[in-house]
Amino acid sequence: MTIRHHLSDQLLMGYAAGQLPEAFNLVVATHVSLCDECRARLGAFDAVGGTLLEEADEIAMGEDALSRTLARIEGLPQATRTDPLRPAGIFPAPLADYIGGDLSAVRWRKVGGGVKQAILPTGKDASARLLFIPAGKAVPDHGHRGMELTLVLQGAFADDNDRFARGDIEIADEDLEHTPVALAGQDCICLAATDAPLRFRGLLPRLAQPLLRI
Ligand code: ZN
Ligand code: ZN
Repeated sequence: MTIRHHLSDQLLMGYAAGQLPEAFNLVVATHVSLCDECRARLGAFDAVGGTLLEEADEIAMGEDALSRTLARIEGLPQATRTDPLRPAGIFPAPLADYIGGDLSAVRWRKVGGGVKQAILPTGKDASARLLFIPAGKAVPDHGHRGMELTLVLQGAFADDNDRFARGDIEIADEDLEHTPVALAGQDCICLAATDAPLRFRGLLPRLAQPLLRI
């Protein structure tokens, strides 16, 4: 598996500093668990964060310094963990832990045109969902009011700009209007997080938007 589209430094730093919304944390942790390159970059940011922590501790070494540091380490995605009892599914460990299982644990809701989604329970400052796009089908044309992260878990999609396969992450913002289309051959499953409601261009999707919560 060759991952071509990665997380930005901004997102990795935000994640290392614990400043991202929960929905974005989930996408970052899931990508990092699949991607050696971003895991190494995150390690560098964590080292910087650790140095700052040590300097702060020299000034005021609290009794809980060790436990706080250990808690930080435990909070990081365990990228190399493999559970021999758990068969390899399409969901990497951070996502499987979040959902409480693999694909069979997902409760899909139809969006139209064969597209399905499952909203994941996260904090309200951003939303996360799984998207199922049948092979060859498109997600409705939309722009973005905030930032949208889309991580491919199965299959591949393409939009006007590029092509994204398992492990790839697309970072979309206000400037991008796109129509992701799942490539032929395999249904596409993605994990997507947005920090603002999407702005659909067609009337019908817009009317349905409050119902779909996307
Ligand atoms: Zn990466
Ligand atoms: Zn989008």
